[in-house]
Parts: sequence; C-alpha cells; structure tokens
Amino acid sequence: MEDPVGFMRYRRHEAGKQHARARVRHWHEYEQIMPLDHATIQSRRCMDCGTPHCHAYCPVHNLIPDWNSLVSEDDWHAAWQQLESTNNFPEFTGRVCAAPCEDACTLSIRSRAVTIRSIELAVVEQAWQSGWIRPQPASRKLFRRVAVIGSGPAGLACAQQLVRAGYRVTVYEKANRAGGLLRYGIPDFRLEKPVLERRLAQLHAEGVRFRTGIHVGQDLEFEALHRNSHAVVLACGSEQPRPLDVPGCSLGGIHFAMDYLVQQNRRMAGDYVSHELELDAGGKQVVVIGGGDTGSDCVGTAIRQDARQVMQVQYHDRPPDHVDNLCYWPGPVPEWHANDHDDEGCRHVWAYDTVAFTRHSALVDQVDGLTLQKLRWVKG
Ligand code: SF4
Repeated sequence: MEDPVGFMRYRRHEAGKQHARARVRHWHEYEQIMPLDHATIQSRRCMDCGTPHCHAYCPVHNLIPDWNSLVSEDDWHAAWQQLESTNNFPEFTGRVCAAPCEDACTLSIRSRAVTIRSIELAVVEQAWQSGWIRPQPASRKLFRRVAVIGSGPAGLACAQQLVRAGYRVTVYEKANRAGGLLRYGIPDFRLEKPVLERRLAQLHAEGVRFRTGIHVGQDLEFEALHRNSHAVVLACGSEQPRPLDVPGCSLGGIHFAMDYLVQQNRRMAGDYVSHELELDAGGKQVVVIGGGDTGSDCVGTAIRQDARQVMQVQYHDRPPDHVDNLCYWPGPVPEWHANDHDDEGCRHVWAYDTVAFTRHSALVDQVDGLTLQKLRWVKG
C-alpha cells in the first residue's frame, strides 16, 4: 500500500464524460477511460480495510483492495493478474456494472467511495493495450463435450472456464452473432461492440466453437443435444417481459424494452430491419415506464433517435438528496443521484403508477396517452 493516509490526502475524482450536448449526437461510448496516473492517485484512497465490504458486495468477489494496492504502486501487470483471477470480462463489468462495491466501500460512510469501477476499467484496458490478454488454450484436452446454450456474459464466462480446463465446448446462440445481452441488449453508448469482438476472438482462439443462428428447441432438438454432450449448460437468460395488465395495454405504439433495444442494436450492426416492424422514437413523445438500467437505456436510445420529448415514470418516490449513509451501509444508499440521461433532457415523474393507456378515438388503434395514479408511500 503506497500511501496509508491517501484517503485523507486525495479526493474522489471520477473518469470524465463527454458533455451531454455533444454525446447525444452520436452512439459511441461517452464515459472516458481513466488515465493511468489519475487511476494511480485514486487507488491510493483505498484504506485496504481489514474487512473489505467492497469485495463481499462485488457480484464476482473481485479482490478489490489487492488490485487497488498494486495500482497505487504502479504495478499494473500484477494488478491485472489479480483482477483476471476472479473476473473473466472486466472490460464489460468496468463499463456497465452498477458497482455495489462502491456503495459498500467503507470510505463512503463519511466521505466518497473509491472509484472502484473506473480503476477496474483502467486496469483491463491497460492489459489489452499491453498485450497481456492472450488466448490461454488448455495444455491437455479432455474428451468430454459440453454444450452451452446462450452466448451472453454467463454463457461466455462458462465456456471460457471450461475450454481452459480442457473440455470441448460449443456455444449455441439463436441470434446471428454471439454476445447475447452484451451485443443486443446494451446500447453502444454504454458498450461499443468492438469491445465484445476482441474478447470473442480470444475465446475462438482458445478453442470455443460458436454455432450461431441455432435456436435450441426449434432448429435443434434439446434431447439430441443432451444425448450428444456430456453436459449441457443453460445460460439463455430471461427474455420474458413483465406486461402491464391494464386497459389499453395492447394498443399500437406500446413496446417492451427488449424489442426496442435489440432492434436498435441490430440497426447499429447493419442488420436488415423491416420497415413495418421499425421502432423509431424520432420526432415522437416517448414515455418510459420503469426507472432501472433497462429503462435508462431506453431513455438514452430514444434521445439519440431524436425523440421530441422523453419522460420516465417511476413508481417510487424521488429519493432524498441526503441520507445518513450509516443507516444503510454497506447496502445501497437510497440517495438522489442525477442519471446521465437527466443531463440529456429526460424528465422524471416520481411516485406514479400506470393504470391505463388511452387512444385518441375508438377508430384508431394507437396509443396517444396514459393515465397515471399518484402513489403515496408510507412506512410499513
Ligand atoms: S471498502 Fe473501500 S477503502 Fe476498504 S478496501 Fe474496499 S475499496 Fe478500499
């Protein structure tokens, strides 16, 4: 640990973002990668806690204090080795993870958390640039076949671990390209697809076979696949939308998030999108129901498609500006943080439930509004 009182010496500085007015004019990532000297200083804020809650709250249990300490000493290669020991794809999590580690960071009780996610991204991008990320083919092959159904992050991580252990791994993907949610769910402004392609190239080189355009259960019988494999991994994710069962919910113009986001990602990839099925928010008034990451991705997409106005409806109250972190730590603190898309022009409606969709006339099968009901939240 380079500086035991770094947490008192340095303040939190985030990686920069392109200004909202400029970034809404394109689809590229707008969050910058933290420069190395900046990340080194930020890592010195880590206190190397005896009980690192950041590590416990990280979904993949990254060894956060260990690689923070190595970054603080400018030992990027060792930091990379620590990072890859727990995380197959830090370039994805470093871009899109909600970072529960930062909520759990001890420093956040009375100050601001270490910029863990940005440091993670700086480490992995340094590893790619330095050529440290190479295929790691198994030294001996096992004659056991594993079929992985689904090529999203879970399927890819599973395939990589198995192929490195010597298994013969085939990944089945129903879409025409591998990547699942990484490719078709997350917009380019959060995760550009060359980031995915370079990782897929590594998996190919390690020996993973990809069979795309095959929908197991339709194009290929599951039983046949099961019979011809020693093991089958189901990593197909959940594509079931949660419908709003209210009057008018089947009107035209109401779409599920994953139909909308997938189509935009296909368009970005140059795929053909039929004119009749086209979902384009250009010039329209858009209401996004739901305030999670998927809702935010829809907001950002609609803004970049040049929607006239975008409003996001959330059923919970607007969080307070400040709360006592100790009441919640190490869990997430329900405090107001501006969303990136607020700067881009999105308007929020808090504590409303959607009770009906309306149309202009009974002759028109197209939504033209919605009826909201105010919710009053009381402590239970
Ligand atoms: S909780 Fe925060 S300060 Fe403590 S080890 Fe983790 S990152 Fe460092």
